Amino acid sequence: MKEELKNRLFEGNRRYVEGKLKEREWKTIRNGLLEGQKPFATVITCSDSRVVPEYIFDKAPGELFIIRVAGNILDRAVIGSIEYGVGHLHTPLLIILGHSRCGAVTATCTCGGKKEGNYIDYIMEKIKPAVKEGNIEESVLENMRCVAEEIKKESSTVKNALEKGELRILGMKYYLEDGRVETVFENGQ
Ligand SMILES: [Zn+2]
Repeated sequence: MKEELKNRLFEGNRRYVEGKLKEREWKTIRNGLLEGQKPFATVITCSDSRVVPEYIFDKAPGELFIIRVAGNILDRAVIGSIEYGVGHLHTPLLIILGHSRCGAVTATCTCGGKKEGNYIDYIMEKIKPAVKEGNIEESVLENMRCVAEEIKKESSTVKNALEKGELRILGMKYYLEDGRVETVFENGQ
């Protein structure tokens, strides 16, 4: 079942890489979602205008439950949103979607501890433990791994769903260069 859902994501990504997104009956889709939603994946990703999960995976409204925040970091509101996706909407997948050339990770790698004096400092503090000296792309991967560990530690909803075999966590990296998505790690069945 979860393999099949993963394939659904990769088939969509293949279309996106080729630049051939599916034609859709938008009005029908919209009307079909009036009574509720049944997305199959919760996605936590970065607030970067170049990273648009619905396009990247060629998915329609109602298919992905997406939370976007600079550096795809976690805080209480983000974890609460993830818990809604996993615990209430019962998405069988939780995707941590990082991306190449991430501005938030780059800023954290290159700021040398210099503060902005605003809430951006808070975001950089969250990313800091993942910084691999002088290597932005490695830091992007490490940041995704840290997010996965933190969500498993902080959220009993996520932990329970994993233990029951109802959830799989996927770490995926999106490449701005060619539109490809790659699986970096997997947790759960
Ligand atoms: Zn980013």
